[in-house]
Amino acid sequence: MRTGLVAGNWKMHGTLTSVRALASELAKLPLAESNAEVVVAPGLAHLTAVVDALGDANIAVAAQDLSAFAGEGAHTGDVSGTQLLEAGCRWVIVGHSERREDHSESDALVASKVRVALDQGLSVILCVGESLEQRESGDTDAVVARQLTAVLDVLEPADASKLVLAYEPIWAIGTGLTATPEQAQAVHAGLRSVVAQWSAQVADELRIVYGGSVKADNAATLFAQPDIDGGLVGGASLDAGSFADIIRAIG
Ligand code: PEP
Repeated sequence: MRTGLVAGNWKMHGTLTSVRALASELAKLPLAESNAEVVVAPGLAHLTAVVDALGDANIAVAAQDLSAFAGEGAHTGDVSGTQLLEAGCRWVIVGHSERREDHSESDALVASKVRVALDQGLSVILCVGESLEQRESGDTDAVVARQLTAVLDVLEPADASKLVLAYEPIWAIGTGLTATPEQAQAVHAGLRSVVAQWSAQVADELRIVYGGSVKADNAATLFAQPDIDGGLVGGASLDAGSFADIIRAIG
């Protein structure tokens, strides 16, 4: 039985005041009643404030990216996994489509970042997903398999307990267009079979979450699919009430 996971990606939103308020509201949620593991990913400058505001709430903090360089060094603007751990992060999102697009992050760079994050002791939410053009030309499965395989090539099966895969169709991110539960389930099942060729045991245990306009009113049907183990939530995670409803949808 895989534990459901709901992660909120706050992207480059918010001020110090607003993210402190959001984290304080989340800290009051009765999460002991939920079966979900909960993670929030504030912007880099807000990490320590959010860690402080969450206090001992059962909510972990993720960074939205990290450097592919291992260790410390002359890498202006980069942040290391070690620095993120020191700031109170336990997780990092790697390979989000906005980073792949805005910063031309290649599959190889994403794989290096995953390797460095795991080596430095962080857990990873690895994002994969296709563009609308790729979906319409029937390339979805090939695209996400390629993105995933680049990372599997640098992993050992023992790393997998610290990895969560997020299927995020680019055309559904921030657009209000959600993949249907059937569309998402089909891709998740395909991803799990790619992992199974690498390790059957890992395929069984690996959590694969869906991201792309998850909202309080569509979360339950998505999460009810056999291969959908939770969600990576952007816009709807910026409101404590709707994020709480999505967490409750895990059941
Ligand atoms: C995301 O940022 O990963 C995301 C899925 O955003 P949204 O929920 O707003 O589509």
